[in-house]
This record gives sequence, C-alpha cells and structure tokens, in this order.
Amino acid sequence: MKVGAALNNWVEISEPNLAANLRSIQASAGADTEVLAVVKANAYGHGAEACSVALVRAGARWLGVTCAAEGVRVRDALRSAGLSADILIMCGFLPEDVPLIAEHALVPVLWTLEQATALALHPGLRVQVEVDTGMGRQGVRPGLPLERLLAAMQTGKLVLDGVFTHFCSSEVAASELTQRQERLFEAAVAQVIRAGLRPQWVHAGNSSAVDNPAQDWPWLAELAQQAGARAMVRPGLALYGYCLPIEGRATSQLRPALRPVMTWKAHVLAVYCLASGETVGYNATFVAERPMRVALLPVGYADGLRRELSGRGWVMLKGQRAPILGRISMNLTVVDVSDLAGVAVGDAAVVLGEGVTAEDHARWAGTIAYEILCGVHPCG
Ligand SMILES: *Cc1c(COP(=O)(O)O)cnc(C)c1O
Repeated sequence: MKVGAALNNWVEISEPNLAANLRSIQASAGADTEVLAVVKANAYGHGAEACSVALVRAGARWLGVTCAAEGVRVRDALRSAGLSADILIMCGFLPEDVPLIAEHALVPVLWTLEQATALALHPGLRVQVEVDTGMGRQGVRPGLPLERLLAAMQTGKLVLDGVFTHFCSSEVAASELTQRQERLFEAAVAQVIRAGLRPQWVHAGNSSAVDNPAQDWPWLAELAQQAGARAMVRPGLALYGYCLPIEGRATSQLRPALRPVMTWKAHVLAVYCLASGETVGYNATFVAERPMRVALLPVGYADGLRRELSGRGWVMLKGQRAPILGRISMNLTVVDVSDLAGVAVGDAAVVLGEGVTAEDHARWAGTIAYEILCGVHPCG
C-alpha cells in the first residue's frame, strides 16, 4: 500500500507484515491478554489511517493515538471502512478537545483534577487513568493524589474503563526499576478496588515488555483479575517490525519473528558522471578520486533522511548498496552507482527497507529506530 502518492519519494507499507506482527505479538502476550495497537505519531511514520484500518481488519480491538485530532482522523478512517474499535488518547488533551472526544467516542487518558473537571461536562464518559510509577511525566502518583482523582471522577460521573502504567526500562532483563514500578502499580490497583471502582482493563507493557522474557506476565494477569478486569499490553514499535535489543543475558522472544512494515523509496531523478577531482554537495565534503557514475535522488533531510547519513549511509538500488556521497541536502541526495549496471532515470531506490533498515539509519544517526521511523515524512 502506497502512502503519499504522487511524490518522488514515498512510503509503502506491507499490510501482510503488519498483520503478521500483530499475530506474533498476540502469541507472545498470550491468548488471555488483549493487545492495544499503538498508532500514535502517525503510526510511527507509517500512516495512522491506513495502519489503523489494516490492524482492525487483522483483529485489533483497541488503538492508541497521540491526541484527540489524531483520534478523529483514525475514527473517520475506520468508519469509512465500515470498522470500529476503541481508541485511547494516550498523550493528553486540553479542555477544548473534550467536545471532540465525546462526539467521536474516544477514550481519553486522564491523570489530573483539571482534566476530570473538564471531562465531567459529559457524565457517563469512559476514561482511563494513567498511574505514574516511575516515568515522571504524565500519570497520577499512587496514594493521596490517586485517591483525590478517583473521588473527583466519581463526583463527575466518569466511567473508569481502565487503569494502567508505563515502564521506563522494559528492554532491561530483570530490571529492578520495573519491579519497583510493578509494586507501585499493585498499590494503585488496590486503591482503585478499595474505591469501589471496577475497570474493564488493567494494562502495562510496550513492545520491549512483550519481547522481554524476564517480564512477569502472570503478574499482570493476576492483578487484572483481582480488579475483575482483563489484562492488556500496548505495543507500538513491534507492530512496525522493530524492537530494541534486550539488555542483559536474555534472548528476545518476539524480536526474531518481526517483519519490517515500511519501505521508503525514491525515484532516480538523474544519472550523470563525475570527473576525477569534481566534488559533491555543500562544502564539497566529497571529492571524486576517479571518474564516477552517480545518481541523484529526490529525497533529503526535509523528508526525514537524517543528515548524519551524509558520506556514511547507503540506499539500495537494483538490490545492491549505493553509498551516499557528500552532504545530504534538503530535498536531494547523491549516491554512487559506479559499480551498478543499468541504473536509469525512474528506477526506484530503497532509502529504507530491505537491505537498509531503520536500525542501520539509527546507528548512523546515533539514535533509535523509533526516532528514524517517526521522522519519515516524504514531502517532495
Ligand atoms: C508509546 C507508548 C507505548 C508503545 O511503546 P513501544 O515501545 O513503541 O511499544 C506504550 N505505552 C505508552 C504509554 C506509550 O507512550
């Protein structure tokens, strides 16, 4: 499936691979655990609408989006395809988003009294509460803050659909931080039960938590059961075929089964020759030491091709590596095709995909595959 047609560089997503990754995650998580498919940040650069439709067709019943506006886009895409799913707004909302949330039946995550007050304009609204057990960003702390929030929700007649937390070090095998977070989350769930609330869902765990063999899944299932709820995990990156390596002596249980979903391509715009001594790009950082044949690609850092790949990365052309020469420009990149026979204008180069993965880009750019994928946004 092609996302962003009519551009000279574009992203294709593999619906079969996306569905296969969802099945692999479901198999690792276990049949009793629901899988919320995270499509926030435009499905990590893959296109939230297209991916949401594909994931729901493949069996996902929950989707996680960034904000209310993204939730509306996903809701509309599902409706047009005759599909439905629960949609969790994962990264907060403002009072002015509340009418949209109610109108499109989105499920907001809340953690402050102000948010509870804003949502209480719509009694009966389903909401989920995030408990901060160690991320120090969004989420209510267990203890008095949680007690006050639950009381405000009851006063406002909000329906507590779920309670969840987020681990800060899920890719670390047998992490003490994770264990400490688990104890705090247990305390929070006990508080919810004592308040007389009966959430449908108790959830924790991203891609790495599902991948990490040291993660104690019976713990989550039992905790959910105590609350009369069902357990759920929230993978994002793994859906798109990537996962951080596990730190520590442990083997991934999911990572080997994952298949990358994104192929990012660019048409060859021109093929030309460089004489010995000619240079390429800003500041002439590349100097041809011999006559060369090069190809010009209409893709650059404006589209998310990281400038750190200048003189370091490669693209795939005709199944072979074509090294990037000189500095990557805003919308143009030059690659070496001297050793590749028959490269012609209009050929499709693979900028990211088979033979050059998001992990390769991440290594070259000194970052993680998450940032690479989210940063892909063909614009020219
Ligand atoms: C982004 C996010 C996830 C998904 O994380 P991955 O590492 O991509 O699997 C899960 N839960 C929360 C709260 C998140 O913000």
